Amino acid sequence: MSKTSLTVAQAREIMLEAVMPVEGWESVPIRSSLGRVLFREVIAPFNVPAHDNSAMDGYAVRAADLASQETCLSVVGTAFAGGAFSGVVGAGQAVRVMTGAVLPRGADSIVVQEEARVEKEGVFLPAVKNVGQNVRRAGEDLTSGKAALQAGQRVGPAELGLMASLGYAEVMVRRRPRIAIFSTGDELGTIGRPLAPGEVYDSNRYTLFGALTLLGVDILDMGVVRDDPVVMEQAFAEAAAQADAILTSGGVSVGEADFVKDIMGRLGEVRFWKIDIKPGRPMAFGRLGKSWLFGLPGNPVAVMVNYYQLVHDVLQKLQGVSPLPPRPTFSVPCSEAIRKLPGRREFPRGLLYNEDGQWKVRLSGNQGSGVLRSMVEANCFLILPEESGNVLAGDRVEVQPFKELF
Ligand code: AMP
Ligand code: MG
Repeated sequence: MSKTSLTVAQAREIMLEAVMPVEGWESVPIRSSLGRVLFREVIAPFNVPAHDNSAMDGYAVRAADLASQETCLSVVGTAFAGGAFSGVVGAGQAVRVMTGAVLPRGADSIVVQEEARVEKEGVFLPAVKNVGQNVRRAGEDLTSGKAALQAGQRVGPAELGLMASLGYAEVMVRRRPRIAIFSTGDELGTIGRPLAPGEVYDSNRYTLFGALTLLGVDILDMGVVRDDPVVMEQAFAEAAAQADAILTSGGVSVGEADFVKDIMGRLGEVRFWKIDIKPGRPMAFGRLGKSWLFGLPGNPVAVMVNYYQLVHDVLQKLQGVSPLPPRPTFSVPCSEAIRKLPGRREFPRGLLYNEDGQWKVRLSGNQGSGVLRSMVEANCFLILPEESGNVLAGDRVEVQPFKELF
């Protein structure tokens, strides 16, 4: 029997190699760039900090005056952040400085105020250990003319603040990709209407809507498409004409009503359709016209696992994110046993918790691939590699947290 399925790593590689960033950009006010991807690098138009300045509250001095022992200097002025000292610090003199104040001319070092003793004849200061101590150098943070942010970087709160600190009001960001989504299945009911016998509400379009909205793409929601090859073919053609990528759910296994892969193959090209992953083994990837196709499985948890483990980074690349941010994993003891057969890479959902100062993980309830509650209650994926078998209680496992700070 030939092996038609790919490992998760192989599937990721194929998709990441194939998909290129969308073309096009726009210039937006920096606030609107939050979550967007920089199209060009952002150049620092001046040094940051702009001047040598004090890193501490204290006294600006000439190190030569404080070469070896405590010395009394006369205080000739004060410098505030935003209020520079206009004179020059001469031999035997010091200037009282606040954090952020421009380093007074003539001075080269700062002695912190905690080490100063003020007497009526002047300020007694200990010897300077290093010339330039407690001074922030002009350009130490960002150098004029150099890139402060790189093309391909996603804008978050820190990037926004940095652009503001450089005086930028607008920034060039890459066009948002347009992603079409639809669910397939005759059994799918629509929220707001009662379910007929045997129907379930369509939840996949809502999880995908959530994931894609947070990702920051334009969503074209095409609703539910019936398990009818003619209707489905129309839906694919319509989506491909408008979208950079199409995400569908359901209809990719080998059941009688599973038409997605065949239609993808007939209208376009299927690069793969089976992955050694659990949950979510059937997942088709291919091309239709100018659109990328991701045929996700139908089971609600499988949709989320496949989306986050396989599709999310590919869509980030489509958005122009480069390099892709690493997704840290770490190893913690698992407080319960997990049954596993070698062969597939499994992503059980888990809850990281701290017990007596030690991080541990346990499963977040029923792990059935249709049980969305396991995702709702989880704060991490466990990653059980292909070759691994059963996990015993107390064994260390790899976890990938997914509830982030921002
Ligand atoms: P399928 O791969 O189409 O056979 O679907 C597998 C399972 O997932 C079936 O039990 C479907 O009812 C369920 N399912 C498929 N699509 C959805 C959806 N959009 N929302 C909720 N459940 C779904
Ligand atoms: Mg179906």
